[in-house]
Order: sequence, then C-alpha cells, then structure tokens
Amino acid sequence: MKLPRIDVDIGKIAHNIQQLKGLYGSKGIKITAVTKVIGGNPAIASVLVGKDIGILADSRIENIVKMRKSGIQSKFLLLRTPALSQVEEVVAYTDISLNSELVVLQELSKYAIRNKTVHEVILMVELGDLREGIMPLEMNDTVKEVLKLRGLSLMGIGSNFACFGGIGPDEDKINELSSIATNLETKFKIVLTIVSGGNSANYHWFKSSKNVGRINNLRVGESIFLGREALCRTPIQNLYTDAFTLVTEVIESKMKPSKPYGKSYQDANGEIREFKEKGLMNRAILAMGGQDVEVSGIVPRQDVAILGASSDHIVINNTKSNLKVGDTVEFDLNYNALLRALNSSYITKNIININECKNVLQIS
Ligand SMILES: *Cc1c(COP(=O)(O)O)cnc(C)c1O
Repeated sequence: MKLPRIDVDIGKIAHNIQQLKGLYGSKGIKITAVTKVIGGNPAIASVLVGKDIGILADSRIENIVKMRKSGIQSKFLLLRTPALSQVEEVVAYTDISLNSELVVLQELSKYAIRNKTVHEVILMVELGDLREGIMPLEMNDTVKEVLKLRGLSLMGIGSNFACFGGIGPDEDKINELSSIATNLETKFKIVLTIVSGGNSANYHWFKSSKNVGRINNLRVGESIFLGREALCRTPIQNLYTDAFTLVTEVIESKMKPSKPYGKSYQDANGEIREFKEKGLMNRAILAMGGQDVEVSGIVPRQDVAILGASSDHIVINNTKSNLKVGDTVEFDLNYNALLRALNSSYITKNIININECKNVLQIS
C-alpha cells in the first residue's frame, strides 16, 4: 500500500467510544462525538453512529456535508460558531449549531423560515477560556431576543474549555453554568434539554465531582480517538491510545557527520540552527515532511530520534535501529498531527480491524 499511510484501527476506536459512553453515562452525561480530527471520514464516522451516538459534531460544514452525502444517519451539530456568510448552508446541512452572536442567530432564523425548517441552537457561555461565548451577564438579554426568533429552537447552553486560554473546568465554573441554565428556565419558563459542559478537557472534573449539576452532555473528540484527556494529555484507563499509526518509508540511510559543515544560513524553515559535533553517525531520511504532518507532534515507536524536517523530508538519528532503505518507521500522533495528517491528500488512510466492528459501512 502507498506510503506514507495511517493505519486506523477501527476496533480500538469502537472500544474507546463504548468505554467513554459507559463512563460518562454513569453520571447521566451523554457524549456527542466530535469528528473534526478525522475530517468527517465516513468510514470512521460510521463506527461512532453504530455505537448509538445521537449527535455527530464537526467544526467544518464541509465535513458534515461529506458525512451526510455518504449516507451517515445522524443528527449533525456545527461546532464552530457560524460565520454570517455561511448561515444558509448551516441551515441546509446541519441540525444544530453552537452560537454566540445575535446577528448570526437572526440570519439563521431568516433562512430557517425560508426553508420551512426549525434549526436548533445551543448558546455558548464564556467561562474564562476566552474563545467563543456570551458573557454570563448578557445571557438573559440574548435569550430574550433568541426566543423571539421564529425558525429557531433554543435547545440548550454550553461552555468550552482548554482551547484558547488553557483554562480547565472546575466545580465553580460548572456550578455557574448549571445555575445559568436553571435561572434561564425559571425566568423564561423554558426547558433547556442540553447543557453541554465541555470537551475532552472535562475528564478530571468529571472523575472528581460527585454532583455533575445540570451537565448532561459533553462534546468529545480527542478521548475517543487518542484515549487521552485534554488538560494534561494523560491516558484514560481502559482506553487505547494507539488507534492510529503513521507509517513512513526510509529513502536514504548513510553514515554522515553529525554537524552540518560549510557557511551557515537559514534552513528550510527560516531558522538558523546550532548543531553539536558528535562525530560520524548513522542517519536516515524518511519520505514525509511538514507538508504531510505536524512533525513536532509525532513520536516514533522505534528507537530513532527526529533530527529535523523540511516540507518533504524528515531526518532521523538511525544509530540504534540501523534501518535500511525501504524499511518503515511507525509513529504515534498527537491531536494536531493527526488532524493534519488525516486531512492530507498525500497520506493513505488504511482502515484495519474492521471485523472487530460490525457497524462499519463499507465506504471510504
Ligand atoms: C473541537 C471541539 C470539541 C472537542 O474537543 P476535544 O478536546 O477533541 O474533545 C468540543 N467543542 C468544541 C466547540 C470544539 O471546537
């Protein structure tokens, strides 16, 4: 099979989602599966649906359209708050969107009325991470306006953590979200069916809290696919952290000096690097580079070390493994590296362990 490639162990992903459903379900929290890291890949997404996940969520409308057109049967939620220029598509292709701007909500309403449909919305509340969200003090005024908009149904409220500011959820922040939900319900005589407390960064809060308050939903991506929580990136018990394997090929293997020689200038990345003299060493080149993957986010499973990379090459210290031309090197990927690699047209996606999972659609 063409290299570089990513082996996607669909059995391990199915296992992870099953475990997470059980874990969060034990305190009444449903998980919405977030598909952005897999670029809406329908074969992988179908496993999530097969595991009875009611809603699939993605930040890109293109990914949602791709999944819909491949026949994935699910409700679809748009995670990135819609741009004004997108509202028509948002109403046409998604069931639910996260929102924080009244002007956008007004436009969503207009197109929902035009399409004779009802678009569901979740209002995001700012709780300190400082990405999307309405300031808590402005929630009452916003909800008052949203309730006047025909074609929209206010499904709930939500918050997001550890994305911009690296701020994690804690008991106080979650209590604040819970009481905002309850106050809105009382004040406006409405029912909020979803209170979405965050993402894979909510794991430690969840484990330590006896009472999850009003939180009945989390939007989870990283923990499903990489088996880790997102505050410290520690592995979650009983989950696989190696469902994805990046495989690439050695195209040169030679004894060479350890320190570049000649007059020194910028490298391909615009940096001037310093190297230590360590004598002759066994070096190898891999046929993959910054164009394919975020090189700083991959970790070799073999005993080799990455020395540097340009757009199409990665140079490794091959002293311990003594790999030859044509040998392969396997890597683990972090979330950003996986995101970019799965969205790279140069990397083959190879779904394995398909028999472990009955619900995979035969589509790719
Ligand atoms: C990406 C994203 C998520 C999922 O985050 P993970 O850390 O992968 O679980 C949840 N909510 C929003 C708004 C997102 O953009």
